[in-house]
Amino acid sequence: MKVGIKVKFWGVRGSIPTPGAKYIKYGGNTPCVEVRLPNNQLFIFDAGTGIRELGNILCKGEGRLKAHIFLSHFHWDHIQGLPFFKPSYIKGNEIVILGMDLQEARLDRIISNQMESIYFPVKLQSLSAHMKFQILSEGSNIIDGVKVDTVYINHPGQAMGYVITFGKIKICYFTDNELVPSWATGSFKLKYKSDTRENILKIISGADLLIHDAQYTDEEYKTNVGWGHSSLSEVLGLAKEGRVNRLALFHHDPDHFDEQIDIFAANCKENLNGSNHVMECFATHEGMELHF
Ligand SMILES: [Zn+2]
Ligand SMILES: [Zn+2]
Repeated sequence: MKVGIKVKFWGVRGSIPTPGAKYIKYGGNTPCVEVRLPNNQLFIFDAGTGIRELGNILCKGEGRLKAHIFLSHFHWDHIQGLPFFKPSYIKGNEIVILGMDLQEARLDRIISNQMESIYFPVKLQSLSAHMKFQILSEGSNIIDGVKVDTVYINHPGQAMGYVITFGKIKICYFTDNELVPSWATGSFKLKYKSDTRENILKIISGADLLIHDAQYTDEEYKTNVGWGHSSLSEVLGLAKEGRVNRLALFHHDPDHFDEQIDIFAANCKENLNGSNHVMECFATHEGMELHF
């Protein structure tokens, strides 16, 4: 029986928006995922360009809006849509931005910096909504009555993975994460923070949904080691070992056209044939909705 959780993808592209005819099926907006919980809590994961259209639709609703925006990290593709999120411009709305602090700057500073006049005409302080910031570090939190666990993941400059648990449903958001390949040895392996995979495996175990960065084919990965993204086989390996129910491939490479992502999804299914763990695997596209 479904408990009434909706997950909707508003942006699934990694690194940079990719408009154009070659990207119609999966979409060109950068990461943004809406999670709507049964008590109507609104959780948004990342504020890539996909958040703009989500914001436009939210503005059509009536009454005061409350949204929690969880940021995986602060690379452009994950925050660039934030200044275009219209609910932030409406008095009475409450927008809570959650994420980690960095050594270089606090969370609120990082976000207000991208709205300095050099980059954008409206300052963060001028937004009409009540803008709040909540710093998260690794651990377990209750946010708006919902359990949200966080874990640091393997990405240049640090990133954070999120796990929401609502009743028996567990939804995991892990983008911009480089899984250590099983063949990595010696000095090659030293490029990685050693134990993130083990921590991730523990926290995603038995998940109903794992949304994970799968930017590269195995071949492409070999020439992109250390860039902070995973290959398809590593993601599949993690999901199988974690006995995940549904694996959603995310953060598609900007150079992967629709046909190439179709091949990714097909390879994923083929790999699962004959596996003793039944798992659904698919490539995410803009507008895709999942219900739990
Ligand atoms: Zn990214
Ligand atoms: Zn990144």
